[in-house]
Amino acid sequence: MRIIDIHTHPVFFGDGAQREQVDKLVRYARSLGIERMVALGDVLYHGPTPTPEQMAEINDTTHQLMQWYPHFFIGFCGLNPLWGEPPVRAELERCVAHGFRGIKLEISNNARDRVMKPLMKAAEDFGVPVLQHTWDTKGKAMRQQHSDSSDTALLARRHPNVKVIMAHLYGIGVRGILEAKHLPNLYIDTSSCLPVAGLVECAIEQLGDDRLLYGSDLPIRELGQCIGRVSGAAISEAAKHKVLFQNACELLGGI
Ligand SMILES: [Zn+2]
Repeated sequence: MRIIDIHTHPVFFGDGAQREQVDKLVRYARSLGIERMVALGDVLYHGPTPTPEQMAEINDTTHQLMQWYPHFFIGFCGLNPLWGEPPVRAELERCVAHGFRGIKLEISNNARDRVMKPLMKAAEDFGVPVLQHTWDTKGKAMRQQHSDSSDTALLARRHPNVKVIMAHLYGIGVRGILEAKHLPNLYIDTSSCLPVAGLVECAIEQLGDDRLLYGSDLPIRELGQCIGRVSGAAISEAAKHKVLFQNACELLGGI
């Protein structure tokens, strides 16, 4: 079974950055069949709204992982849409030049905010996907920063030329799946929470097998359990291969 994990934080609140810790993680992941890991960065290390300097430090930590294991880690860079266009473009350009292949957005703002426009334009110009933190926050005050699945779906609808990954299948649930249903540029990752019987099956039934991506949210979640929720789902072997490997491989432009 070949696996690409599209959603990981190998360094988490400063922990995991030592070379020995990284060596251990890569050994363990490879023992489970994980060939490549998308490192999204230590996104909340400096809080929800990092400055350009703070985010550059976070992205440099991810870059160190990429340098140690260039055939294992794929970096997505963190950006804060609230900076406005010039700093957003500058940091994206710097990261893409260093080999980063996507953008990770956390909780600086809601995905439906107009401040997203220049960032999404930059993503389109550089041809990189955007992985957006998403959770079921409908009716909750936290929605101002924590995008609900309807917010991330709106973002994808507004920017059909950018591939958007809605994070956390188990945080968005069936409603999130249905909101993504008719948006061909919107993907969902299987990360977060405890497994829920039938949810992977529901996603495949509603979306088809091209737009679901295996992700763990390591180190918050245990890899074996995260893989098991896909490998143990009642879907075809071909669909499992697509979710665990092929869809991410194509989204990333090869590995
Ligand atoms: Zn995460």
